Amino acid sequence: MTIGVLGGGQLGRMIALAGYTLGQRFVFLDPGAESSAGHVGNLRVGAYDDEERLSELARKSDVVTYEFENVPVGSARFLNELVRVYPPPRALEVSQDRLDEKGFFASLGIPTAGFAAISSKDDLDRAVAKLGLPAVLKTRRFGYDGKGQWVLRTEEDVGRAWEALGAASLVLEAFVPFEREMSILAVRSTKGETRFYPLVENEHRDGILRVSYPRSDAWTADLQARAEEHAGRVLSALDYVGVLAMELFITGDKLVANEMAPRVHNSGHWTIEGAETSQFENHVRAILGMPLGSTRMIGCSAMINAIGKLPPREAVLAVEGAHLHAYGKDGAPGRKVGHVTVRAETRRELCDKVESLLPIVDPDGRPSLRA
Ligand code: AMP
Repeated sequence: MTIGVLGGGQLGRMIALAGYTLGQRFVFLDPGAESSAGHVGNLRVGAYDDEERLSELARKSDVVTYEFENVPVGSARFLNELVRVYPPPRALEVSQDRLDEKGFFASLGIPTAGFAAISSKDDLDRAVAKLGLPAVLKTRRFGYDGKGQWVLRTEEDVGRAWEALGAASLVLEAFVPFEREMSILAVRSTKGETRFYPLVENEHRDGILRVSYPRSDAWTADLQARAEEHAGRVLSALDYVGVLAMELFITGDKLVANEMAPRVHNSGHWTIEGAETSQFENHVRAILGMPLGSTRMIGCSAMINAIGKLPPREAVLAVEGAHLHAYGKDGAPGRKVGHVTVRAETRRELCDKVESLLPIVDPDGRPSLRA
């Protein structure tokens, strides 16, 4: 089978690396000629809304998926007339608009922060009065890694944020005073088979994911069950196929949904070495209707992102149990250029290894999470 992928970034690259072992072929469409997936598969360079390129992708592919959630929904729908597209374009549509996404969660009984649609300064003032401060003002569309959002703490912030973001369609969210951020990855196949990975605890800095700990010390069976219940409702409502990530805030024993990504996710990169079946392999299995693989953890693991530039290879690989994934991208401030997964038999051992790796991989930060 040939799998067409919209987007040629590192996620596409890792989907292909997993799919090759199952004997699949890949063709990518991305506007950038230097895209990281181009090193490992057939890269077609073109805009996501170029119908000629999309038709070509459909002709070459038995099934199409995407690794980038800002692909125009119209393009996914156009392709869906020509070839099977998974996850369904509706999932893309919901996840692209923070207001629709929050409304969708609420319609499924999944708890979210209080929210309100904002299209004028009056709306904003009314919403601030209703939801209170602090609050978070976000663009409805095209926000990622903390871009397009503003935390409002004072009345002055409200005016300043409106000046900065007011031109766009916005949503105001109540500030969630969370203790932890977690994500759950779920996967559902064309046959309806569904599996969930263990909850992952994530630490962000400057809006970018830095460190992930699957099944961290804050994990409980009850949180896991509730997160699975929420993600399961999303899968069923969308007749979803593929990997889905849901980002969650944990406050006390409450679990609040922040957003979802209809694709493989950075907080699931640990699964390449840390789970029986990686998120990438399970995504491929799911869209091809193969039996899904076990999502069981193997020992304990953690994932550290390499942001801006790659860490020195020798130093990373000298740590027993560490695995370096370099995406073949040039370094640039704030750019994800690779990640390191480290695995150990016990939590104690894992913490020691993470302590050794952090100064090498993320020298500017001191993440506070513990495995
Ligand atoms: P997002 O782009 O929605 O994933 O937001 C990026 C980061 O901003 C999240 O990972 C949180 O750390 C923080 N954040 C977003 N929304 C809220 C909220 N309603 N309350 C508190 N923190 C938030």
